[in-house]
Formats: sequence, C-alpha cells, structure tokens
Amino acid sequence: MDLGSRLVGDYEEALAELRAAGVRVAGEPKQDIMTFGIGYSTDIHGILAWCRDQVLAAGGETTAGAVVTELVRDARAVTGVLVRAADGRRIRYEAGAVVLASGGFQGDRAELTRSIGPNADRLVLRSNPGSVGDGLRLARAAGTGGTTAMSTFYGHLLPYPVHSFEAENYLPYSQYYSGSTVLVNLQGKRFADETDGDELLNQAVTFQPQARGVLIFDEFVRSTEVLEEPFPGLGSIDRLGIAIEAGGKHAVAQTLPELVDILAGWGVDRDQLYRTMDRYAEVAGHGGGTADGVTVSASARAPQNGPFYALMVQPSITFTFGGIRTNARGEALDHDGGTVPGLFAAGADIGGLSNYGYAGGLAPGYITGRWAGGSAAERAASFVRNESYAVVADGHGSERNAQ
Ligand SMILES: Cc1cc2nc3c(=O)[nH]c(=O)nc-3n(C[C@H](O)[C@H](O)[C@H](O)COP(=O)(O)OP(=O)(O)OC[C@H]3O[C@@H](n4cnc5c(N)ncnc54)[C@H](O)[C@@H]3O)c2cc1C
Repeated sequence: MDLGSRLVGDYEEALAELRAAGVRVAGEPKQDIMTFGIGYSTDIHGILAWCRDQVLAAGGETTAGAVVTELVRDARAVTGVLVRAADGRRIRYEAGAVVLASGGFQGDRAELTRSIGPNADRLVLRSNPGSVGDGLRLARAAGTGGTTAMSTFYGHLLPYPVHSFEAENYLPYSQYYSGSTVLVNLQGKRFADETDGDELLNQAVTFQPQARGVLIFDEFVRSTEVLEEPFPGLGSIDRLGIAIEAGGKHAVAQTLPELVDILAGWGVDRDQLYRTMDRYAEVAGHGGGTADGVTVSASARAPQNGPFYALMVQPSITFTFGGIRTNARGEALDHDGGTVPGLFAAGADIGGLSNYGYAGGLAPGYITGRWAGGSAAERAASFVRNESYAVVADGHGSERNAQ
C-alpha cells in the first residue's frame, strides 16, 4: 500500500485517539475544503500540549530553541544528534532512535533551485522561517534516498508586488478564488485549467516567465467568489481590496478591450491576450473543451459584464511535497529501499504522500508522526543508554564534558 492510501486509512484512528485524549475535535467534518477535501476543526495547541505532556510523563524532556546540526552515527546506525542549544552550547544526545521532523525544505533556496529551477528565487516564503531543509540534509548524509515530486509544493497565489509579507498576511493575501478567473502569463497566454484550484495554479505560475500571472475577472466574480469564504472557518473578506492595499498591481475597466489596453501597458502582449480571451469565451460558451491546447473546463465561465478586473499575482511556498524516503512505519529508507537503522522521519520532511495535489499538512504531520514515533519508541526501548547527553562545546570554542 502506498503512503497516501495508508495515510487516509489511518485518519479515523488518529481522530479517535485525539478525542480519547480529551483534545477538542469537531463532531462533524467540514466539507469541500479547497473544493475537494474534508477536515475536522481541532485544537492544534491542545494536540501539541498533549504530546509534550506524554513525553514528560514518561520521564523525557523537551527543549525549545535548539537546532539539530548533525546526526551521530556509528558503523551500523544513527545513534543520536548534535544540537546547538539556544545559549550557544553544543550538546550531544545519545538515543536509540532519531525522528527527523524539521518541516520541509521550503526555506532552502539552493535545494529549491535544484528541484524547481531558476524561478525558485521568485517564490515567496509563506511558512515558518525555520524549515530550511535540515531534515533532508541530515537524512541524505546518513544515506537516505529521496523521493519523486521534489519540484512540487503547497502554496497560494499572492498579489504582486506586496509592500511587505508577514505571518498575519499569509491567509488574507492568498487569492483562493483564482479558479474562477482567467489566468494568463505575461505573454497573454493561458497555461492551466483554472478550475484546478489556487494551490495548483500557484505551482503552474511558478514555471511561467518571471513567475508571474494575471487574474482577469468580471463584476460577477468580484462580488461573489472574491468575497466568499473559500472554505469554512477562513472568513469572508475582500481579497481584491486587501491585495490592492498591499500594493498589488491591479486594473479596473468598464470594458474588456479597455482592460486589455491597460495590461498591454504592463508589458502583456496585447494581440495574444485578445486572442486568448476570445478563444476562452468561445470554448467556455460551448460547454468547455480545449483552447490553444489548454483545457477549458465545462464549469468555466468567461468574464461577461463589467466592470472588469485584473490583478498581477506571484506564487508562494508553504511546504514541499518531496523529501526523505520512508515507509509507512516512518523508517528512513536508503536508495535501495533498505532501512537506515535508527533513523525515522515524519511530517513535511517526508516525500511520497502527495505529488502535485495538496493532501493537507496537519493531518499528515500527526499521522506520519504516529508512524515514526511508534517505530522509534519500539527501537529505543531495546537500546541500552550509556549516557543521556554530553556538552561537547560551549559555543566559544572550548571543549568540555558535562556528564
Ligand atoms: C499560514 C498557514 C496555514 C496553514 N493552514 C493549514 C491548515 O488549515 N490545515 C493543514 O492541514 N495544514 C495547514 N498548514 C500547513 C501545516 O502547518 C504544515 O503542513 C505542518 O505544520 C507541518 O508539520 P511538521 O511537523 O512537518 O513541520 P512544522 O510544523 O513546520 O515544524 C517543524 C519545526 O522544526 C523546526 N526545525 C527546522 N530545522 C530544525 C533543526 N535543525 N533543529 C531543530 N528544529 C528545527 C522548525 O523551525 C519548525 O518549528 C498551514 C501552514 C501555513 C504556513
């Protein structure tokens, strides 16, 4: 069974576990998340607190603000980690098992460029800044293989440009409604079926010239999808108004030809854009098909009544889909499919859960964490510890042993 199927199969059991632990999980799922998914509202802080409490209750400890810099290995297995503590000390932890869960490599520009190409530099980071590919780097150094899907990732289209982009802007700046627009590149050409949805269009824009796109829509979309809650819980807000305030390049015109003229002033090929809009309207009017080699879905609706709107957009990256190769026990695998003894991985650090399509982030994190955590605990239980940890350097160069 592949990892994706196993993930879906374990979903109900994970929900039951959280409920039994007293963590709030909604009784009924929200339907149509991102148009295709279901999800249960839950209390993420509650989940993290419960996990931490279990570690402490079992005699373990947790450390915040510490960075794992190296894996400790002997000839046969991974046997611990080297950590740079918040106060600069370097601490060596001996362990029967190590679980890598550093959240993906979206913050590592060099790795992104290798996987995605030169436009990786143009991807806006829409994520915690700490996930810089350490898990993948450490796993590779220990002989772990990679997965496919290294160029695919989750993110949403954002206005271009934006004055600034802070964590509180991540949700309101996301143009979730792009699937109801006509999306063209700077050459005036369509390149994707818009009804695929914003998270897939975000990836498609990444591979277009200058990683830019232009959303074109009419007053109907402006007064419906732009304002609507894209999925339950996210809130109804004016995403175009917010994009304009953020600095996004935009245009409003009473007729489509006037709008095309404005876009030509932005450098979009005027004649090509006319052709694109005409062909799109024609094919959409006939119930969908293909326009210039690009699918026009049966549910596509061409812009019809003014005012007409345009917003320039750019892609963002929240987390990567490719990563460390594991099995459904969370065991890290080498290039031949054999296990790397002592090494496990979970969450956005692992690849193989999805390839291009978004399968959620939090549920996969929790479920793959159970896989890796359970297997790691099993292995660690049979490991005889000689020492718990040792300070090997204090950040100022001197070596000492604090056992
Ligand atoms: C704005 C936003 C909205 C989202 N909304 C949803 C949603 O509604 N539903 C959903 O399912 N998902 C959502 N996600 C995605 C979800 O948050 C992630 O997929 C999930 O948190 C990944 O979990 P993880 O444990 O793999 O990594 P993370 O939660 O990213 O945790 C990894 C941690 O490891 C730390 N780290 C990195 N390197 C090291 C190192 N060397 N040593 C020590 N620590 C290190 C990082 O700093 C980070 O704190 C959203 C993400 C964002 C940014």
